[in-house]
Amino acid sequence: MRVGASPETEARRAAITLVTLAVRRSGRERRCILPGVSDLTEIRDASRAFIADRQWQQFQDPKSILLALVGEVGELSELLQWLPADEARSRLREEPLHTRAAEEMADVLVYLVGLADQCGVDLGSAALAKIKASADKYPTDQNRGVAPDKT
Ligand SMILES: [Mg+2]
Repeated sequence: MRVGASPETEARRAAITLVTLAVRRSGRERRCILPGVSDLTEIRDASRAFIADRQWQQFQDPKSILLALVGEVGELSELLQWLPADEARSRLREEPLHTRAAEEMADVLVYLVGLADQCGVDLGSAALAKIKASADKYPTDQNRGVAPDKT
């Protein structure tokens, strides 16, 4: 157990690792949306199987998943909380912070994919639509090198 980690956090971490290993061992053809990033459908299906195996479906309502997601965002934030901004980028590429951040990012992603699953949202399509909308909102010729406004 890691110093300061609750038994629930450690159990969740171990479960996610097991799901990851099970997916890797499944031998199914993988379609990656980015190099090193698994397909969201694969993550959704692995998470569904993990939940079903434990008969945890009754705990999978949108509010509960959202609160778990927010908790995981907090755990990710905690890793960077007191790092100077200019130091965070390099430290995130070094161990042990790299692995810890990857674990918390995975927790966030798994819960976000689960929330989308509960709500019937095609998360990949929704994300691509938002990127397109942002590209339309912030044309490159007017926004290159300029921080986005808050309007
Ligand atoms: Mg976590």
